[in-house]
Amino acid sequence: MNEAVRRRPYSLIVTDFMLEGIKTGLDVIRVVRGNPGRAAQTPILALSASDNASRRIEILRAGANDFVQKPVLPEAFEVRVRKLVTLADLFARLEAQHQMVKDMAQRNRLTGLFNRHRLEELTPELLAECRQSGKALSLVVIDLDHFKKINDSFGHGAGDQVLVAVASALRNSARPQDIPVRYGGEELLLVLPGVDLPLASLGAERLRAHIETLKPGGVPVTCSIGVATLKADENFEALFNRADAAVYQAKHLGRNQVIAHQ
Ligand code: GH3
Ligand code: MG
Ligand code: MG
Repeated sequence: MNEAVRRRPYSLIVTDFMLEGIKTGLDVIRVVRGNPGRAAQTPILALSASDNASRRIEILRAGANDFVQKPVLPEAFEVRVRKLVTLADLFARLEAQHQMVKDMAQRNRLTGLFNRHRLEELTPELLAECRQSGKALSLVVIDLDHFKKINDSFGHGAGDQVLVAVASALRNSARPQDIPVRYGGEELLLVLPGVDLPLASLGAERLRAHIETLKPGGVPVTCSIGVATLKADENFEALFNRADAAVYQAKHLGRNQVIAHQ
């Protein structure tokens, strides 16, 4: 029974307290409420022939949302079913909205990438995990070349579209465990857990070459990329500074290239 509750989001569960056998009505409530996530909140309507007040309280305390006395009056049953289903629907919508607000606070609106705030939330745990498991962690910093000129020549709207296209290329190149971030104006990052410097540099070069072919809305765009891999006893800020220094070097050497900071 629980498997079915977990797999299928039921609108309502009706349980009779005269249930015999393995599960009584109280067991049904406990099993449903013991589920992880949303399945635990499935509304439960209890039926019982008992008119004993303490029994009713016990049923409600166990987690039933409402109670119908048997013999059941169809009208009373219908009213309660409708009320519980409407309430559950409201809660589900509230939860979806809450999730949306949370998501908006973590992402940059234009590009849909994670923002710097979210990156700062994620990095301490990520670094600790990599240290503990002995896995590498690489950081790729991408800065668009002459973006100011793109804005000046093609307009701010076209500049925005370039950012969206590059962000989308970055997202498409990322694995589920990677973290693509819009760090600042035209500076994007990719955090690569479990990836060493040679592999991260290879991926960065592939991304650079791909961005060069994009020409979103006919606007030619290139980027300079810096790559660094976390050293022992280094914090995220120090790692970022090294990757950023590599970007600066790439700019200095003529832009549209990848530099790995050893
Ligand atoms: P470089 O190759 O040295 O990086 O030159 P650059 O012009 O890219 O660098 P600079 O830092 O001088 O300019 C970045 C520009 O990015 C300036 C700013 O107006 C623009 N910018 C920042 N955020 C946005 C945005 O959301 N949309 C648009 N269209 N432009 C943005
Ligand atoms: Mg910049
Ligand atoms: Mg730039």
